Amino acid sequence: MSGYAIPLWDLPTLPVADSDTAFPVRRIYCVGRNYAAHAREMGHDPDREPPFFFAKPADSIVPNGGDITYPVATQNLHPEIELVVALGQGGWNIPVGKANNFIYGYSVGLDLTRRDMQGVAKDMGRPWDLSKGFDNAAPMSAIRPVSETGILESGVISLTVNGKLRQKGNLADMIWNVPETINCLSGLIELKSGDLIFTGTPAGVAGIERGDVLVGHVDGLDDLHVVLT
Ligand code: MN
Repeated sequence: MSGYAIPLWDLPTLPVADSDTAFPVRRIYCVGRNYAAHAREMGHDPDREPPFFFAKPADSIVPNGGDITYPVATQNLHPEIELVVALGQGGWNIPVGKANNFIYGYSVGLDLTRRDMQGVAKDMGRPWDLSKGFDNAAPMSAIRPVSETGILESGVISLTVNGKLRQKGNLADMIWNVPETINCLSGLIELKSGDLIFTGTPAGVAGIERGDVLVGHVDGLDDLHVVLT
């Protein structure tokens, strides 16, 4: 075999903060309902049932500072502020006690959601895929290596919209913490280097409109700036 049948596209990447290195993105997994108050606001009992996961296409990432066009097929676009974990190594059945060693770094991400489309999918028992995975559905800040940040186990996570606080929580309030999440997910698939994991959002999700200016924050990481056009 020589060459490709169609032109090869660019590998999706995220910048590594304060470096000229890029982090190659393989896949994007997301945890659902991982903060109790958000589970409650979505109408669910936050009892510690096993975590569940969904995915976004790797090329749905948007680098920090990018404009995002209001997506088609929704009238109720919700941004969910999340800590994103970037894996430097993968494996099956990664033990909780070793999971932090698999982390390359962290980023601040928005799990953009076409909430109305997701509601229809839930009602009809259909997949969520296109309510979560669409063009530009994963804006993210540059990755900070864990060698700089240390392991993030607590700290404020927040989202402001047009300067007003919309979501605020603490990383310590995750129902399933990051090592437990890596452990569970690696029991379902073989995790790989380059995989990203969105770790769930605190309470306060609501719709955004064209012209809104979003700033996502996690203590110890670079703020994420997004303008919706
Ligand atoms: Mn989410």
